[in-house]
Amino acid sequence: MARSISYVTGSQLVSLKRLPTIAVVDVRDDERTHDGHISGSLHYASDGFDRNISKLLHDVKGKDTLVFHCALSQVRGPSCARKLVNYLEENKEDVGIKNIMVLERGFNGWEASGRPVCRCNNVPCKEHENA
Ligand SMILES: [Zn+2]
Repeated sequence: MARSISYVTGSQLVSLKRLPTIAVVDVRDDERTHDGHISGSLHYASDGFDRNISKLLHDVKGKDTLVFHCALSQVRGPSCARKLVNYLEENKEDVGIKNIMVLERGFNGWEASGRPVCRCNNVPCKEHENA
């Protein structure tokens, strides 16, 4: 079970995203609506994240790696990742999640590196482009 948080770079995430067992969790708040998002990412706003952890765990059934990010991944991303680690520890719930990660430089860094940004309005995003 995941007990610590590691960081991944954008280029590492590009490779990881090809795995069927990974989920990207966007914890930005309203910015997601305006700024687009990483394709296929789930949205669990940092505001109210605690209340939605069990829903998140249901959504990521079968995934073993979660990659959190916010706009810069400096505050909200790491703190939500930490909340999930704590939740799993407290509940002794083995949901099969082995790796909890944070995307370095967040969505803004991802976009600034010219990586693809999805602007669909689907909830959840159904795009799974690998680029
Ligand atoms: Zn989308």
